[in-house]
Amino acid sequence: MDMPTPDPVVLAKKESLVQRLLSVLPPDAVVHDPVETRAYECDGLAAYKCPPLVAVLPGSTAEVSAVLKICHDMGVPVVPRGAGTSLSGGALPTADSVILGVARLNGVLETDYDNRFIRVQSGRTNLSVTGAVEENGFFYAPDPSSQLACAIAGNIAMNSGGAHCLKYGVTTNNLLGVTMVMMDGSVVEIGGAHLDAGGLDLLGLICGSEGQLGVVTEATLRILPKPEGARPLLIGFNSSEVAGACVSDIIRAGVLPVAIEFMDRPCIRATEAFAKPGYPDCEALLIVEVEGSEAEIDAQLGVIEDIARSHDPVELRASKSEDESARIWLGRKSAFGAMGQINDYMCLDGTIPVSSLPHVLGRISEMSVEYGLDVGNVFHAGDGNMHPLILYDANKPGDLELCEAFGADILKLCVEVGGCLTGEHGVGIEKRDLMPNQYGTDDLEVQLAVKDVFDPGWLLNPAKVFPLDVTQSRRGG
Ligand SMILES: Cc1cc2nc3c(=O)[nH]c(=O)nc-3n(C[C@H](O)[C@H](O)[C@H](O)COP(=O)(O)OP(=O)(O)OC[C@H]3O[C@@H](n4cnc5c(N)ncnc54)[C@H](O)[C@@H]3O)c2cc1C
Repeated sequence: MDMPTPDPVVLAKKESLVQRLLSVLPPDAVVHDPVETRAYECDGLAAYKCPPLVAVLPGSTAEVSAVLKICHDMGVPVVPRGAGTSLSGGALPTADSVILGVARLNGVLETDYDNRFIRVQSGRTNLSVTGAVEENGFFYAPDPSSQLACAIAGNIAMNSGGAHCLKYGVTTNNLLGVTMVMMDGSVVEIGGAHLDAGGLDLLGLICGSEGQLGVVTEATLRILPKPEGARPLLIGFNSSEVAGACVSDIIRAGVLPVAIEFMDRPCIRATEAFAKPGYPDCEALLIVEVEGSEAEIDAQLGVIEDIARSHDPVELRASKSEDESARIWLGRKSAFGAMGQINDYMCLDGTIPVSSLPHVLGRISEMSVEYGLDVGNVFHAGDGNMHPLILYDANKPGDLELCEAFGADILKLCVEVGGCLTGEHGVGIEKRDLMPNQYGTDDLEVQLAVKDVFDPGWLLNPAKVFPLDVTQSRRGG
């Protein structure tokens, strides 16, 4: 994976940059000692590392604005950072950039139950948004598996999803407004605590823009009343393809579970060894969760169980208690950690039409043999958002490159069957060079033109999202 050569002119400005940053931020908010900047050298895609020139931790929108003004004046690139859990390298620094972390911006600014919204600072973690409203019977729906750690800022930048997004939608469907600081330091309000706004839908543009257009400091989010009840059903199969076909049939039947999650044998075994959730030892399992009153839950599960039985499951286990529900979910929520115990892994994030699941799962197994690398699949099957985890050994020369090639082939397959390169993790650096597989020259040019408007100097989050050769003239590289 190529990154641009750091600009020696910017590197030479470090001392004066630090002095200027210290003039607008408290001393403990400017991290410039090379030993300490290493804490920001990577995100969740830990295969790639590069310490930034400086990291800053502003505590208010005004401080973010002051930092961006300085970097803009001095021509220094800025990489916005939430909690650093990105799996696509979205928050990877370059050696000549300032990491702008929003972790200190973690307050609740306003809660309105009558109008069902909450306004928070963007560094607040996803789970603590629900934590702030659950006593009053509300919750914030998007639930990435990383929700204990990841920040709303990163969720907005990546348009993150989660297990329950099949019913409630992803971040963009639950975001009402943002306060955003532009690269020149100006502060703009986009959207608000209302259903829709006049003029261009800039909020739709900001959500999923991967730190390319501005630094989000505050967010207004939709909160929902908690459902009366929820119950998961665990279904085991002797074939991944059959499990995929069952997902397709459930969706076609028109029932709308809140979640349909899929795990294959390598993930089931790793998870069982790691978290002991009591899963059956089978080729593939589905966790299907439905919500509502007891009567609604029974009716929906009845339809789903009938569909599952027509696919000869080896296990059909409806939860009968809160404890059983927690154990069914425990395995799924521990799956990434469990796979990490086996070896290094790269987590992909392609999305496909649900009807293509059996075909794509079959091809991934074949490719795993061709590349000689094991792969485990754990993903949000209901909306076709796949997460193949390719296992490799970071210490074995050539293994990372092999893994990258295998990953690229899987993502190209997703595009070929009518899907796309990313479902929820974003493009970052991981899928940057595959963008031309999905978009033609004119399509990409429109996206670049939008970036030109918001960040004419191309200083925000450099070398991400767009292939380097396509952006070279704009970046001045
Ligand atoms: C174990 C694990 C499980 C995961 N499961 C899921 C999952 O189920 N669903 C899912 O969607 N993702 C998942 N992820 C990926 C990751 O957690 C999400 O992408 C998350 O939204 C990133 O949030 P963050 O705060 O860590 O952002 P970071 O990693 O810090 O940054 C992500 C991107 O956001 C940009 N950014 C950060 N802050 C700002 C800001 N203030 N303004 C503008 N841009 C900004 C960064 O520049 C970067 O491009 C998982 C990750 C891990 C490690």
